[in-house]
Amino acid sequence: MNTRSHEALVVGSGIAGVTAAYYLAKRGYAVTIIDRQRHAAMETSYANGGQISVCNAEVWTRAKTVRQGIQWMFDANAPLLMNPTPSMAKFRWMAGFLAAAFTGKYLPNTLKTIELGLRSRDAMRQIMDGENIDYDQSDCGILHIYRNQKALDHAVKMSELMQEHGLERKVVDVDQIMQIEPGLHGARDQLLGGTYTENDFTGDIHKFCRELLERMVARGEVEFLRGREVIRADEQGSHVDVDVETARGEREFHKAKIVVVAAGAESSRRFDALRRYHVYPVKGYSITVEVPPHQLHAMPRVSLLDDERKLVSSTLGNRFRVAGTAEINGWNRDIREDRIKPLLTWVNELFPELDTEIVMRWACLRPMTPTMMPAPYAVTRRIYAHTGHGHLGWTLCAATGEDLAEAVQKSHQPLYA
Ligand SMILES: Cc1cc2nc3c(=O)[nH]c(=O)nc-3n(C[C@H](O)[C@H](O)[C@H](O)COP(=O)(O)OP(=O)(O)OC[C@H]3O[C@@H](n4cnc5c(N)ncnc54)[C@H](O)[C@@H]3O)c2cc1C
Repeated sequence: MNTRSHEALVVGSGIAGVTAAYYLAKRGYAVTIIDRQRHAAMETSYANGGQISVCNAEVWTRAKTVRQGIQWMFDANAPLLMNPTPSMAKFRWMAGFLAAAFTGKYLPNTLKTIELGLRSRDAMRQIMDGENIDYDQSDCGILHIYRNQKALDHAVKMSELMQEHGLERKVVDVDQIMQIEPGLHGARDQLLGGTYTENDFTGDIHKFCRELLERMVARGEVEFLRGREVIRADEQGSHVDVDVETARGEREFHKAKIVVVAAGAESSRRFDALRRYHVYPVKGYSITVEVPPHQLHAMPRVSLLDDERKLVSSTLGNRFRVAGTAEINGWNRDIREDRIKPLLTWVNELFPELDTEIVMRWACLRPMTPTMMPAPYAVTRRIYAHTGHGHLGWTLCAATGEDLAEAVQKSHQPLYA
């Protein structure tokens, strides 16, 4: 059987794979992307919340989240749902999360995420300028809203911290909220205040990945092998052996000088070399409301983050996307109607003028490390990781993709050595 050789093989065509390929190609590497799906970005980078949200950079690894998580375990409608069935992967992930929460990692990891987010936001704008991609991008800013005084007090402190580190997240009162988003007038009495981050923005992650990949393929910078699942990647001194199964069940053998694993939630489960990073699936849901032309005026102007309900929203062209909830439920990808319901209820309560007749329901798995920080890039000499971006992959991947390509270049210049 023939073996196909590649210079840089990227596993996964989600935002992590596409941005890694983009920055590797910019440095002159011949890149191949391989994905088990027939089209780019069909898994977690398909219908997420749409927010490039540096304002959401605070990591969850702190004692308060742990206490709240325990309370939520006894509330069927809580934004977090945990399946108590034990598994080794779940146990390791939770132990790592607790360790990060109680060993002083919360603040440094939050600051690192702000720094990555700011760089990534700039890098995304550079990609937009250079490639002119239409992905329903909107420079609308992100408005956090609060109904709970304790949560608002914490947000005020977090905004101060973020401002000190270069993010323009400012505290706003209810009158200012109404000016920024008049559509919230029906909820005015419930709100205590909020924060607004003008330079954060939104866009459709799936369109972005698909368009950017198509352009790189058209320019001959990247080859896209689709419908092919990587079964194994083993480093063998001068190269990595990669076994692949096609959608028809046939086996293929590939060889690469370097492999970048950007396989989302599958990264640690499938790739032995990445097992120690404990990337675990944290499920989330979204709904996308198709808004008819006569109701476009009723769509929110800005992107929202409702802290109490843990929901985010984005206006993507004539579609209104609402996403959120976290489910620690292993590899289950079912779209449960009882988890979709709070999202629909939120739209109906806050924006009652919008019809929720045509709604696409979606669920997917966030690739999350226990520390909530992206996995380290260099795994072995020839295997790299671009994964573990959790709930912020769309916000962070441009910066981490650039850093990853730099890490590759530092160790492999020229690549054939
Ligand atoms: C409900 C929800 C809302 C979210 N909202 C936001 C948001 O508003 N802002 C934000 O910044 N982030 C958000 N996120 C997080 C963000 O969407 C993810 O971090 C990001 O999409 C992960 O991208 P990825 O490329 O790592 O994974 P994926 O997009 O899942 O890509 C992995 C790819 O690898 C392929 N693959 C896997 N295994 C193999 C294999 N063995 N062989 C070949 N191919 C393989 C898959 O087919 C897939 O295409 C949200 C996530 C969810 C679930």
